[in-house]
Parts: sequence; structure tokens; C-alpha cells
Amino acid sequence: MGLKKGFPPEESLLLFCDRILELSAGKQLRVTLTGGEPTIHPSFGQILSRLGSVARVEVITNGTRSSSWWAELPRLPRRVIISLHPQYYDRRVERINDLTAWFISQGVGVVYNLLCDPDQWSTVERMHQDLDPKYRPWVIPKVLQDLSDPRQRPRANYTPAQLAWIQQYPTRVASIYPEHTQLVLEDGTRSKFDPHQLIAQGQHHFQGWQCSAGLSSITVDYTGGIFAGICQSQRLGSIRDFELNSTYMTCPKRECSCAGDVILDKHHPNYAR
Ligand code: SF4
Repeated sequence: MGLKKGFPPEESLLLFCDRILELSAGKQLRVTLTGGEPTIHPSFGQILSRLGSVARVEVITNGTRSSSWWAELPRLPRRVIISLHPQYYDRRVERINDLTAWFISQGVGVVYNLLCDPDQWSTVERMHQDLDPKYRPWVIPKVLQDLSDPRQRPRANYTPAQLAWIQQYPTRVASIYPEHTQLVLEDGTRSKFDPHQLIAQGQHHFQGWQCSAGLSSITVDYTGGIFAGICQSQRLGSIRDFELNSTYMTCPKRECSCAGDVILDKHHPNYAR
């Protein structure tokens, strides 16, 4: 969210915060501050403070800020998601153990996005091993996709053993929204599901389905553009002028891009909600 030329000014960002709080009055609002690295934005503390008073705010960060930096903020997020990238690994995980202990002492939840790069698998394993064993249940092993093919986005080339490790990982991060992870089958039976496992198993393809993206979920990009869902399937305007969708949209994408999209309310067009 850095403040470069063309980026929205602080005044617009804070007005947007007020608008989104107004639109979500009476509803449960969850906000994810992400980037790049969102903590480098000069208004990060103010945005967190403004939204955190009424929304469940979580921050996706690379974990490079110290606990003393976080302690200076007027308000802490409800949850921090620390991204562990093998290409930037420098035994940073040891510091992340200390940072995690501090967050937990402050009542902030911590989970980890472990980027499972099949070409750097030994580093992925080392990062996992360096994480304190008591924190490992809060790891989400993330499947990488080949983004050089934006239409098909094939899964990266994993060995059977790597894929089995990802699919069978005993994570306790069942979902960011446990109450929203129910599958309703054709016969009306209901069952819980784990969105991360659906992605790992390649069962996150919903093209043509009716989806609540843009109604229950929006993304703000670094220029201030507002889009439906994290998938950004539809542009809804800018932070100065936008409207939420009033009905479900027809999914135009081949697949959901992440767990936050998978858990959005959606149904096959042959079935009513
Ligand atoms: S990609 Fe997923 S979240 Fe986005 S519109 Fe399609 S089903 Fe909905």
C-alpha cells in the first residue's frame, strides 16, 4: 500500500473506511490488510485504528516488523497472517517465533502462509522445522500455481510426496470463517469443509456458478480500485465512488484464487440458495 504517485491520499482512504463501515452496519465485517507489505504504508496505524473499532481486521505481513514497532500502534489487529517465502528465507523464522509469542501475549491470533515452492522444497522443510513445534498447527501450506498461464493457472509441478504432505498437513486453521464452511449437497445433506484442502485437491472451480463476490466481499487495490472478491472478477468503482452488487454474480473465472474466495456463499445455477 505504499504512498507513491497515483496512490490514493490518506484523506480518501479514511473516507473510504467510514463508507465501508456505514455499508456494513449491522453485519459482521472482516477486513484483510495486505500488499505487498501493508505495514510500510504511512497511514497503516490510522486505517487499522479506524476499522479495528468495529471490524475484525487481519493483516497479511512478511513478519519483518519487530514487536516494539507493533507495540507503538494505537490498536492491534485481531489476527496476523505471516507469509513464509522460501526465496527470502534467512533464518527469519527464528525471529518469527519470538514475534509470534509477543502477539499471542497481546491476544492477537497468528497463522502462517507457508509458500510451498516445489523447486525449493528443502527450504520449505527447513522453514517449517525452524518454526516452534507449538506453532506448527497454525501453518497453512499454500499450493503454488503457474501464473505464466493466467487462464489455466495450472498447479505447480509437485512430486507425489510433496503433494501428499500438503494435502495431509494437520493444520488447525480449518477456515478463517468456520461458520461459512458448509457444503450443501444435492440431497440436502450438509458437511463441513476446509477451503485450503479443496484448493490442494483442485476442487475450487466454480465458473458459471452464482457467487456473492461484490456483495459480501470486495478488494481494494493499491490505486484505490474496488473489485468484487479477492479474485477481482468485476470492477465496482474506486474508493471515492463505488456501489456493492445487489445480487449474486455469475462467476467468470476458471477457479477461485484463494481460500477467502472459496468460502464466499455460492451455488450451482441449477440450484436455488
Ligand atoms: S472466482 Fe470464486 S469468488 Fe470469484 S466470482 Fe468466481 S466463485 Fe466467486
